[in-house]
Amino acid sequence: MAKVKKKVKTIKIDLDKCNGCRACEMVCSAFHATPKYSSNNPARSRIRVIHDPMRDLYLPVYAGEYTAAECMGKDKYIIDGKEYSECDFCRASCPSRDVFKEPDSGLPLKCDMCEDDPAQEKPLCVQWCLNDALVYEETEVEEEEKEEVKQEDVEIGVESMIDKYGLQKVMDTVARMAKKE
Ligand code: SF4
Ligand code: SF4
Repeated sequence: MAKVKKKVKTIKIDLDKCNGCRACEMVCSAFHATPKYSSNNPARSRIRVIHDPMRDLYLPVYAGEYTAAECMGKDKYIIDGKEYSECDFCRASCPSRDVFKEPDSGLPLKCDMCEDDPAQEKPLCVQWCLNDALVYEETEVEEEEKEEVKQEDVEIGVESMIDKYGLQKVMDTVARMAKKE
């Protein structure tokens, strides 16, 4: 199979530098508003900051993949004397919590590194983080060419709608829409 070069984008998080200002959440939600920058609502952001000032705990987390099942057990971690739950670090949009879900539709949100917007030199949250807690890195890797599976995004959307509203309701809605056409 042919090899192709692929750009891998990474954002490193330096917890010691994050002060919980939440500018990253604001700009991300504004960029993804429709129309762009028409509103901002952290609940629509693809980065969320777990913050607990009483414990001096600030943890930015990027939205990753959708998962239909919640974990059976959740571990606790003590790092630098601060206690974190496993969920604090988790990037998944999952049934057991509200983060990384579009508030109106319940559809999962995922960081898109700002949609490859050519106007952006770096992802917006990195640009807006004045404390340098978010550091953008790009590397190039070689891998085997794969067929692009665009269907995957559609399936994830449908699966999460079924989780939220139930299979019957989704099927009834699709049937109603089909009748209208
Ligand atoms: S913008 Fe930077 S310092 Fe502010 S909450 Fe986000 S990661 Fe933390
Ligand atoms: S990289 Fe872009 S899409 Fe991802 S969390 Fe940051 S601002 Fe949002």
